[in-house]
This record gives sequence, structure tokens and C-alpha cells, in this order.
Amino acid sequence: MCCAIEMTSLAPTLIWCEKALLADGWAKDVLLEIDAAGDFSRVSPDASAGDAARVAGAILPGIGNLHSHAFQRAAAGLTERRHSADGPGGGNADSFWTWREVLHSFVTRLNPDDQEAIAAQLYVEMLKAGYTAVGEFHYVHQDPDGRPYADPAEMAVRTLAAAKTAGIGITMLPVLYTVGGYGDVTPNAGQKRYILDVDAFLALVQGLTATTQGDPNVRVGIAPHSVRQVPASPLAEALAGFDAIDATAPIHIHIAEQVRDVDEHLNHVGARPVEWLLANAEVDARWCLVHATHVNEAETRNMAASRAVAGICPTTEGNLGDGIFPFVDYLAAGGRWGIGSDSHVSVSPIEELRWLEYVQRLITRSRNVAAPGHGGSTGARLFGDALAGGAQALGRPIGALKAGCRADLVVLDTNHPNLLGRDGDGLLDSFIFGGNTNPVRDVMVGGRWVVRDGSHAAEDVVFATYRRTMRRLADESL
Ligand SMILES: [Zn+2]
Repeated sequence: MCCAIEMTSLAPTLIWCEKALLADGWAKDVLLEIDAAGDFSRVSPDASAGDAARVAGAILPGIGNLHSHAFQRAAAGLTERRHSADGPGGGNADSFWTWREVLHSFVTRLNPDDQEAIAAQLYVEMLKAGYTAVGEFHYVHQDPDGRPYADPAEMAVRTLAAAKTAGIGITMLPVLYTVGGYGDVTPNAGQKRYILDVDAFLALVQGLTATTQGDPNVRVGIAPHSVRQVPASPLAEALAGFDAIDATAPIHIHIAEQVRDVDEHLNHVGARPVEWLLANAEVDARWCLVHATHVNEAETRNMAASRAVAGICPTTEGNLGDGIFPFVDYLAAGGRWGIGSDSHVSVSPIEELRWLEYVQRLITRSRNVAAPGHGGSTGARLFGDALAGGAQALGRPIGALKAGCRADLVVLDTNHPNLLGRDGDGLLDSFIFGGNTNPVRDVMVGGRWVVRDGSHAAEDVVFATYRRTMRRLADESL
């Protein structure tokens, strides 16, 4: 499966809807004009439909999923058995770190065809759930023996091909991963597919940037894996090298996901991870700090002031037992944030947003934690912030129905049982908090309909390939 599957025909240049969420709130009778490049050229509220194609329901901007490791979709559920020797009553040593070992061993079997098949299935699922763009934090670069493929970018190229097949926008974030752990630890067998030196990494980034130039659905950024896997010197070298390639593209990094990350950084470097990064790199609006779970008050304030996006992945962070991001304090400090599905134990923006809010309700024993003051809608705040943070972190003109943005949108079925009788922000409240069935009916990316009536044009072909892949991977694990 290497060729893009034909999508449904180009969208009409004019569509009209009774209800749409614009940058300054809900509007009625909205006419959306889309140019040949797939961007909105004009968005007009209170307009007559005229010859435009009428869209029933309510239109929202498509949401960006700012953190994905596509291959992990195929491992979801594989790590839900007690891995540590401790039995009931004897403590539980299962953790992120034992999960990571299972993941490393899963990766050893993955070939480029598998990567493409899994990513295509995942991206179709994302689109159907309402994500119209993804940030792919891509770290499996090398072949199973730890050597480069004939094309060193093979795995990234296959991931981009999957995005094209599905029709999702993508920000490809090749990962720099130079050491096995703190203290320049030699990588173990499970990590050998991730390792690149800075020169090889920058060559890969340069190549991908050149080959995707001019594709409005693709952007290339970088992702130093973490301050655990990239020491200070290669980090500085990579950041300087990347500035010479593209001085405005996004930079993502995993940081302070686990308490152990903080403890080890303190031991080896003498500072907390976020504290150290803010002091040693020019962290600004290009940056996305993924997880940033374990931050103190000063780090929370300073991260917010940096204008970086906090990349919060609530279902994965829950699945891995990471801890809880100080969301209330971060919001109070004006922090920017977005959501990611990360390990894909869930592929649903509404579940990510709901979890984010519910965890805060549980620890504060209160309700409507994210709502902006008296009478404010929690759903509208969560959805609006995640749209803006997702767009910023992915470094693409997305996340809003306005001229100059990509024509990426989601149509909610207002006849869905969860949404009946709702209007305005009430639609967002019931979309997020109304249940588990999905009211997303149609999805457009870059002016093309990719999901109609809940079905994706390529879903049968993509699934058939994915099924073969999963059967082979299952057989090999026996
Ligand atoms: Zn991650």
C-alpha cells in the first residue's frame, strides 16, 4: 500500500451551514468559500446560501492532535497485564518503565509496510473522530538491526504516505534520540532503532523538509526526544542546525513525564527538567512541551510565560500512571495547551478533553474547572483552547474557520441523540460530556471531504491491509 487512495471529489468551492463555530464564537447562516489550494478564502456569517452546497448540522474547525506515535496504535491493550513480580499485597512495581520494555520489544518486529499500514488505519480513525491534523513524534528510524534503511528516511516517508492515504494533515516531527539514558548510557537492544547522531538527524530533517515543500497538508518540525535521551550538547547542536533549515517550524520534546525523570535530572544535571530547559534553550511559541506533568509552581508560571504549548495526553498519561498536570494553576497563569492521543489507547478528542477536566474535578472535588468564570461553558473553553494550542503546536494555519486557514472542518450531526435540543456552546458541552457515541458525521481536510456520513472513503482498503499486518505481528509473537 504505497499509493494515495483517491478521495471523494474536490469539495464545492462554496458551502453553507446554519451553524458554525467561528473564531469569535457561534454564528448563523455561514457561507464558507474555499479556494483551489484548499484554504478558506472568505467566511461570511448571516449570508444567504445561494448556490452553495448546504451542509446540515453544525460546523466546527477540525482539531489538531499534537502528539502521536503511530505504531503504538497496534500495541494498545498489549500492556495491561501485571508485568512486575510483585503480587497482590506485595506492592505493584508496574509502571511506565515496565511498559516501555514491552514497547521496545514490540518495535523490534515492525517493518516499513507495518508502519504504513498501522499509521493509515490510525489516521482514518482520527479523522472519523474529528481530528483533522496530527503531530507525528516519529522515532523508529533504523532497521531492526539498528542500521539505516537504503533511504534513511524510509519509516518517516511511509508515515507521510499513510497520512496522504488517509487525507489527514500532518506535522512530521523526526525524533533525535542519542543516548540510552542519563549518564550517556549505551542504548539497549530495544532502543537501537531510535538512535541517530546529530548529523544524520539533521540530514534526515533537511531531506524531509525539501521533499514536502509546497504540500500545504504537511509541515516538518523536530522533536528532541527528551532531556533524558538527548544530553545538553547534542540538543544545542540540533537546535542550531534546525534553525538553519527552518527557523520557524515547531520543536516538540517529552519532558517531566515521570517523577523519576525529575529525580534523575536533578541527580545528573542539578536542576529540574523544565527549569533546566527554560534556562538553557530559547523556549518560545515554537515549542511544545509534551506531558510536563511534574512541574513546580515556578516552572508552571514560567512555562506559561514562555508561550510554549503544553502537550497534554490525558488518556495515555492515565494509562501509564504518569501523574497529574497542574492544569488549574497553568490556566490561571494563561498557559497555552493542546491535546494528543500519544499511545492511542483512545483515539477521541472528546475523551481526551473529558479526562482532562474529570481528573481535575476528582482532585479538586469541584465541577466546571476549566470554565471561564460564572456562566461560562466548560466545553467551549476546552475545545477553543485545544484548537488554538493544537494549531500553534503543529505550526500550520489550522484550527479556525477564517480566511487564510486550511479548510479543515468537522460537521456535527445535530440530530444525534447526544446533541438534540442543544445550540451554541451547549453543543460543545454535550459533544464532550454527552456520552461515548460519536456525533461527527462529515470531515473535510484542505477542502476535500474525507469522511461522509461517518464513513471514510478509503477505510475498507486501509482496514484490510491493517488486518493482514496485525495477523502477521500476532503470529510472530507466538
Ligand atoms: Zn510520547
